[in-house]
Amino acid sequence: MPSLGAVNEILPVSPPRAWAEIDLGALKRNLAVAREAFGGELMAVVKAGAYGHGLEEIAKALASEEIAFFGVANVGEARRIRNAGVGTRIYLLGATWSEEREEIVARDWTPCISSIEEAEQFNRLAAARGVRLKVHLAVDTGMGRGGFVAEHLPEKLAQLERMENLEVEGIGSHLPSADEDEEFTLRQFAQFHAIIRDLGGESRFRWRHLSNSAGLLGFDQGCCNLSRPGLMLYGVSPLPGFQEKLGTVMSLKSRVTLVRTLPAGHGVSYGRQFVTTQPTRVATVGIGYGDGYPRHVSGKGADVWIRGRRLPILGRITMDQMMVDVTGAGDVAEGDEVEIFGSNIPVAEIAEKAETIVWEIFTGITPRVMRCYKA
Ligand SMILES: *Cc1c(COP(=O)(O)O)cnc(C)c1O
Repeated sequence: MPSLGAVNEILPVSPPRAWAEIDLGALKRNLAVAREAFGGELMAVVKAGAYGHGLEEIAKALASEEIAFFGVANVGEARRIRNAGVGTRIYLLGATWSEEREEIVARDWTPCISSIEEAEQFNRLAAARGVRLKVHLAVDTGMGRGGFVAEHLPEKLAQLERMENLEVEGIGSHLPSADEDEEFTLRQFAQFHAIIRDLGGESRFRWRHLSNSAGLLGFDQGCCNLSRPGLMLYGVSPLPGFQEKLGTVMSLKSRVTLVRTLPAGHGVSYGRQFVTTQPTRVATVGIGYGDGYPRHVSGKGADVWIRGRRLPILGRITMDQMMVDVTGAGDVAEGDEVEIFGSNIPVAEIAEKAETIVWEIFTGITPRVMRCYKA
């Protein structure tokens, strides 16, 4: 079992049935792969609790890795990084609320700007404090989620440059389909390059960034000198061709709680969608959709890994438990460790069977699942 000490001391609960082992060494090696493939500086994207890996622990693990920024979704995540004692610059990937901006200025976090109104407010707040806030110009080259559209840019940048307490130190855009549409993505890179040229050239912006993981791995970076990888740091490549370069960071684990033999003709789990056709040894495992394992994989042929073997899940996933066919694995016993996904069962396989994406699987692992870290 992983160390349960702190949790058991604080909480009068039984040991967790499911836990996630997080390999910080693999995280750092994946960061090195990103750095090597990109050749420029990195913004490590740690939004949504570092994709379910634990925001504070991941930020602390990467704090000494000379990352230019941590990319977060909102000020709550930014606070958590600072409260963890990590001083790396923080970039807010999405739009901010008006009420949040005073804190952003006071704490010198870096927003991306999508409207003149928000820029004006940042400028006023910075003036009131007698500081100059560094901001990035957000450009919408096809994502449709934020930023200025290209035709208005020269005029908007000129307006921003007249705001004395703002410093437009960067320009960024986002790729909606770098893992699905190469042709469109190549056009985005070309457009981003042309935009920067028209706004005064590369030297105008200290930071020029466009790529997520798929953009970083699959494309020539042109004039960009900063990249924003997320998923690949956590060991999964959005472009399957690069998967072997990356190491598994999260292994979702559980244990066998029971092993029984059911007779032929016996249903397994809700809805009795699976019925045994022969005497079947069934292991019950202590993880379910209440832990974030997708119920949608029920009946799709997903496997788990026990004692060096792939073994199939039977019937529907329940909230706290699932059943596994261990008929051909006579040695499986109560208490055995089960890999739900990890280095033997790729998380991408589970995402595909659940008809979703790995990002959603990772961020869907619920708080009940204890995260255990190994350096
Ligand atoms: C989430 C996000 C990223 C990271 O994307 P991955 O595909 O996980 O690498 C990069 N940039 C922005 C703006 C994002 O929102």
